[in-house]
Amino acid sequence: MSLRRDRLWLAFLALGAICTVLFAVNVAADLASAVIGGVCVLAWAFGPRLHGVRPRRPWRLMTAAASFFLVGIIVRAMLVEQPAPIAQIGDAFTVCGFGFFIAALVTFQSRWGMDRHALLDGLIVCIGAALASTLLFVLPTASIPGRPGIVTVIAGLYPLLDTVTVLLVANLAFTTAVRQPSFMLMGSMMLLVFCGDLGYAIIGRNGDVTGPRLMALPFLLAFTLGGAAALHPTAKALARATPLPIQAWSLPRMLLIGPAVAMPFVLTVTLGAETPVKRWALGLGGAAIVVLLLVRASDAVQSHAAAQRRFEHQATHDPLTGLPNRRMLSIMVERLLSEERPDRGANVWMFYLDLDGFKLVNDSWGHPAGDQLIIDVGTRLRHALPAAATIARVGGDEFVVVQRCTEPEAMANARRIMECVERPLVVVTAEGGTADVVIGASMGIVQSLKGGGRAERAEGLADALMRDADTAMYRAKESGRNRWTVFDASMRDAVRERVEIEVALRAAVAQEQLSIAYQPIITMTTGRPAGAEALCRWQHPVRGWIGPNMFIAVAEDSNLISALGAWVLRESVSQLARWRADGVVDDTFWMSVNVSPRQLGDPVFAERLGATLRQSGVPAENLVLEITESVMVEGSDLTERVLVDLRALGVRISVDDFGTGFSALGYLRRHPVTGVKIDRSFVNGLGTSAEDEEIVRAVVAMSSALHLAVVAEGVETPAQRDVLMALGVPLAQGWLWGRAVDPATFAGTWSDGQAGIQAVRVALPAAVPSD
Ligand code: GH3
Ligand code: MG
Repeated sequence: MSLRRDRLWLAFLALGAICTVLFAVNVAADLASAVIGGVCVLAWAFGPRLHGVRPRRPWRLMTAAASFFLVGIIVRAMLVEQPAPIAQIGDAFTVCGFGFFIAALVTFQSRWGMDRHALLDGLIVCIGAALASTLLFVLPTASIPGRPGIVTVIAGLYPLLDTVTVLLVANLAFTTAVRQPSFMLMGSMMLLVFCGDLGYAIIGRNGDVTGPRLMALPFLLAFTLGGAAALHPTAKALARATPLPIQAWSLPRMLLIGPAVAMPFVLTVTLGAETPVKRWALGLGGAAIVVLLLVRASDAVQSHAAAQRRFEHQATHDPLTGLPNRRMLSIMVERLLSEERPDRGANVWMFYLDLDGFKLVNDSWGHPAGDQLIIDVGTRLRHALPAAATIARVGGDEFVVVQRCTEPEAMANARRIMECVERPLVVVTAEGGTADVVIGASMGIVQSLKGGGRAERAEGLADALMRDADTAMYRAKESGRNRWTVFDASMRDAVRERVEIEVALRAAVAQEQLSIAYQPIITMTTGRPAGAEALCRWQHPVRGWIGPNMFIAVAEDSNLISALGAWVLRESVSQLARWRADGVVDDTFWMSVNVSPRQLGDPVFAERLGATLRQSGVPAENLVLEITESVMVEGSDLTERVLVDLRALGVRISVDDFGTGFSALGYLRRHPVTGVKIDRSFVNGLGTSAEDEEIVRAVVAMSSALHLAVVAEGVETPAQRDVLMALGVPLAQGWLWGRAVDPATFAGTWSDGQAGIQAVRVALPAAVPSD
């Protein structure tokens, strides 16, 4: 059905062609022209409806135009023998038809928006055409003596109406990028109407108002093409035309405008300007074209300059807040640094702030709420800081403020900035409500010091300043967020060292310089290991042993942690499998392995681990994964699902360093964890600090209520062990029993027959670092 509907325009073209041929060979000519005219009216009335074209208004106007043209043709044929003004009744219909036709084109045009350049170009073409038609047709027709006034008026009217049509078609072509069949058919139709009218205008010069029958052929063809345009499926696109990008002086434009500009000169030379009317027409027309050209030229220059300014602004400003971006900031800082300033107390101060936990705003209230918050922070900063301060947005939630000022002024700025982000901000939630958000920010502050070992050039200084401010900002994040840190040179060394470690760590992971050491987890009552914790070790070829505290953080930041964590898991599970097979450990012995939040954010983590366990033959319950408290606090839905999958697998999950973070009971209840590991900082104080003892007592009570296993870590003295035992902690690890050692030493130390605290102490390998 829809295929047939889509082909209707072809059927219409065929019908139009048959009618035109019949008309041309004078077989039932009147009937043929009436049929094609009538069917065209129907096509314009119903075609757009058939294809669901919206809006219908221009098509309704087209239908009215076609109806009037058709009636005009019929009435003119009927009354052609009558004297004026009866014979002109048909023309009255045709002129009305033109009115509707022009209205339809204007309606199309208004849908597409009127480009100023296109309008000016159209007017130039129109004046050129109007001049030509006035001098070539209107004036000669008007000067024919002895004709009724109405005949003269109508004869002069057609060329002018055609001129207006030319203007609109030219405009249409200048403003829209649509070049689809419906548009092309419509354009061809207008061209044919124009040609038909031109024919009549030419014979009108001699006073004739009717010509040979074949002069009506262009109109028949116009009906045919116009009807097909309405029936073509692309008629839909006509109302939704895409505006052409601004084309200042494209070749097609020049081809249309050029002859129009030349028209006054060509007409003066070819027709002469002997009468005052001609002189006025040529003078006014020529002047109008020159004025329009001047307006057009200055307009083009201005819009080019405006586009250039817009482009420059876009390249140097952040679209969301309108603040300068990183690129612009660099330029401004360079300018500030290179200024010669007599006020010695003033330096360039840079404040680099990054909102804390901004991702949570996006995640909780949606991206638009996050955008609004960023805009609001930008606005607050602008209002709170002196006009001399430059404020830039240099990243997602990062802003930089720069000002040349004294130290007290800088500290006042720092306070103002922090105040801006600490006051609650209102965000609109996805549901349309509002919420107060207290966000906070971490800020790094640095001042430029001339010399100081930095590059001499302002360019290098600006980059160095940004880097240092960024470094200080990261230090503020590390030290707990929602604070500021003033940069000092040692931070730069720390960053350098971190970068060096990252590079070396990448190589270490690739070259397998890492190894795993195992620390026993002891059953207090027996003093025998119930399990072991796998701890990663790195023997750097130059630096020697590097502790996990140093490189795990680097691995987390550089995303190396996923590869590293996966390797540790595989390796420790297969070690456990070997120990089980060799009889070093019994069936109940478990392996504790640390996993990072990043690993738990991998949706297939549990699936992969399941495969590893199956391959090694180690039961899932013999593996304990140690997670950080932050996983429970900051973890996403995805992390939560991974934890549930892991529990479904049978793997146990223990919360490491318990007590140092949020430690809310609610988190433990909500997440599928099976145990906690009391942080060493509480164990340290046992025997001396009553407070630590109470904390451990509380953790034991809570764990017992929630059926969680409890392990204490960092046990170093028999006194600590005794207190832990008295408090009911069943399992512990620490130097008291043994450090983390390589698998062979572990097996040698702990396999049956060699147990005992003294034995372990003697067996401590000297080269292995503390854990
Ligand atoms: P931290 O406390 O460590 O700074 O973490 P954070 O949650 O603030 O996140 P971080 O600064 O690491 O990253 C900023 C996030 O901001 C990353 C991105 O999802 C988000 N973001 C970046 N650009 C836009 C933006 O134009 N609009 C919104 N709504 N969010 C953005
Ligand atoms: Mg942030």
